[in-house]
Amino acid sequence: MIGYSRPPGAGKAATGHVAANGGSPVGESPSESRSCSSERPLATLRPIDSPAMNADRPATRVLIIEDEAKTAAYLEKGLSESGYAVEVATDGEEGLRLASTSAFDLVLLDVMLPRLDGWTVMEHLREVRKDLPVIFLTARDSVADRVRGLELADDYLVKPFAFSELLARVRSVLRRNARAPELVRVGDLEVDVVRQRASRAGQVLTLTPKEFLLLSLLARRSGEVLSRTVLAQEVWDIGFETDTNIIDVAVRRLRAKVDDPFEEKLIHTIRGMGYVLEVR
Ligand code: CA
Repeated sequence: MIGYSRPPGAGKAATGHVAANGGSPVGESPSESRSCSSERPLATLRPIDSPAMNADRPATRVLIIEDEAKTAAYLEKGLSESGYAVEVATDGEEGLRLASTSAFDLVLLDVMLPRLDGWTVMEHLREVRKDLPVIFLTARDSVADRVRGLELADDYLVKPFAFSELLARVRSVLRRNARAPELVRVGDLEVDVVRQRASRAGQVLTLTPKEFLLLSLLARRSGEVLSRTVLAQEVWDIGFETDTNIIDVAVRRLRAKVDDPFEEKLIHTIRGMGYVLEVR
């Protein structure tokens, strides 16, 4: 198992526990995985990769495309126990359909699949969901495949692998991906996450730090209705029991700057649900 760089400190947990023949993984149940403790502490990052830590936050959604029932069930169980919302597709066609039509955060993709193989799924997927992170899972072990896998996907794991190893990769890919969009564009709105600058139609918007955070969150998750609870947690770091009026006031102020001067409105209220930023 070489040819990729292992997350720092993950080495100890990386010995193969999943049986090479795809049979029952033994010796370590997913919930006892030690990879948590072997990961670097990431106190400054939001727990985007450990949704179980926050029950009010929508869980990170993982799609497993794997035809081998035992492996699929094992991964599903382990990831669910780690707090992810998991769905399984058992052939390439169904997997591609689910991945292109539903809002997943990550795909685990087997290579040898009925109907459509993993490579084909990946190629089609890249056309419709460019930014969706994919980790290839495969029994194939040749160098050529590994190179091909890494060119197309975000990471590549050769069976057999330990669940702790998979979990470390999943977290690492999600972290990388969470930081990836440095410039977000929605219509004529541009949010530069690195330089902390936002503009519409080329005009720079003067925002407070909280307003910028709120706008960048709405823009990064454009098209997704964000509840007041989620906004409160993400922007103000407060729980839902806090008066959510603070959110409405903040959104009103943000709108005054982002939408009022422009004909096309981007921030929309979804009654009883929250807010969404999108071009309509
Ligand atoms: Ca397979």
